[in-house]
Amino acid sequence: MKKYLGIYLKNEKEINILREANRIVSIILDALQESVRPGVKTIDLEETALTWCSRFNVKPAFKGYRGFPYAICCSVNEQVVHGFPSDRILQEGDIVSIDFGVIYQGFYGDSARTFPVGTISNSTQTLLDVTRDALDIGIQSAVVGNQLYDISRAIQRYVEDHGCSVVKRFVGHGIGRSLHEKPEIPNFIPQRYSDIPLKTGMVLAIEPMVTAGKDEVEILSDRWTAVTKDNSLAAHFEHTIALTSNGPEILSRSYAEYGQGRSH
Ligand code: MG
Ligand code: MG
Repeated sequence: MKKYLGIYLKNEKEINILREANRIVSIILDALQESVRPGVKTIDLEETALTWCSRFNVKPAFKGYRGFPYAICCSVNEQVVHGFPSDRILQEGDIVSIDFGVIYQGFYGDSARTFPVGTISNSTQTLLDVTRDALDIGIQSAVVGNQLYDISRAIQRYVEDHGCSVVKRFVGHGIGRSLHEKPEIPNFIPQRYSDIPLKTGMVLAIEPMVTAGKDEVEILSDRWTAVTKDNSLAAHFEHTIALTSNGPEILSRSYAEYGQGRSH
């Protein structure tokens, strides 16, 4: 595979496989979205994801990854990322972030969405909207001719202009034959960085994690679940995109929503 500054550039054939991997991820996230409602246990969502993985004959990407025990990351309310599915029952007004990936023909798909549980408050809906729009704006910056940190800057600016904070402890990433490839894609501009020109063939997982309060997070004693320190709500949206000469292509776009004319 071709490399540029240590970053794998995928050819058309490889992007075709990544497109299918991410299409499967997106269909399974659509199914999980259908299942989210008050009264559902989060472990039921894990079961749904596993059932769909066998239906598509794909492997869940996260189960066993660095010892992560489940197929989905399921993070409720003040949990930011890497939460465990459990016997916890979703309540009206909760939000649940589901991060999910598969391995298909040796390539990874990776995408995340935060879902409302029943009716949520206006301020909670705003957090979801800001995070999803920040992802869109980041994707719009992912064009050949721009630099990597144009993505980071666009996301950070949008989120902070809307009174929310970007989490700095976790970042987006390149993706391909590995779940996490170079480059890292922070959702903020670090104090020191050297920029990278964006090139055709880069495949990137862009994933703003946003809180309604401060940006500090801490890890629970299960050694995985990241929660906001100030207990504020957190949201997470992620798409895997390919940089083409015609601009960014969202490989993990939601087919359910796209059918209704939405961009993802
Ligand atoms: Mg993910
Ligand atoms: Mg990711």
